[in-house]
Amino acid sequence: KLIVFEGVEGCGKTTQLRRLRDWLTQSSWGEFLRERIQGEPVMVTREPGGTSLGLELRRLLLERGNQKTIQERTELLLYAADRAQHVEELLKPNLLKGMVILCDRFTDSTIAYQGYGRGLNLSLISQLNDVATNGLKSDLTVWLDIDVEIGLARKREQGEVTIMEEANLDFHLRVQQGFTELAKAHPLRIIRVDANQDEELIAEQIQIILNTKFTQ
Ligand code: C5P
Ligand code: MG
Repeated sequence: KLIVFEGVEGCGKTTQLRRLRDWLTQSSWGEFLRERIQGEPVMVTREPGGTSLGLELRRLLLERGNQKTIQERTELLLYAADRAQHVEELLKPNLLKGMVILCDRFTDSTIAYQGYGRGLNLSLISQLNDVATNGLKSDLTVWLDIDVEIGLARKREQGEVTIMEEANLDFHLRVQQGFTELAKAHPLRIIRVDANQDEELIAEQIQIILNTKFTQ
């Protein structure tokens, strides 16, 4: 099973992904659920940067100096290259082995950031996503929906501000709009969680979502 976490900056993807991994591997309910979906070990990964080639691409994409010169279509293609490598090298073989994979960002981020955020053609991105994934889709996508300004403030508090977060508020609001439209268009695959809530409460809601999705 491929379970993806999506959302704007500071929505808590990485935190919730780790919490879900711990719950799946360490709690008895989590173990029960894992038996039901016959998912053996749980693996955590991310985009960009889930493979060693991908890590190089992540550096190219997010390093401050590069962000100034990188063109929008170049950026799109590098994200696609990262994904193609990730799918073939890591995701497909491990899904075949029955692993439960928790992935920090996937195809919806490209639609939200490069499509809605940068304004690149949505059908082009969708085609490129198909090329990069070779048809692989998530079984469940958890969208952590946080107010853009709260998310950005969180990132600043953590001192984790990257060049992307410095982009203007309008950009991040467009990205948020992208996730909103995606959730509307794919109500079965994408489940929204209110990420303005307490961390503990969000974690519990995600556990319930998994139970509902995979045991009924
Ligand atoms: O998920 P994470 O915060 O590690 O992502 C790293 C950065 O890459 C973020 O600042 C995000 O805005 C950016 N990104 C992007 N387009 C994507 C995926 C991520 O601009 N398709
Ligand atoms: Mg993160």
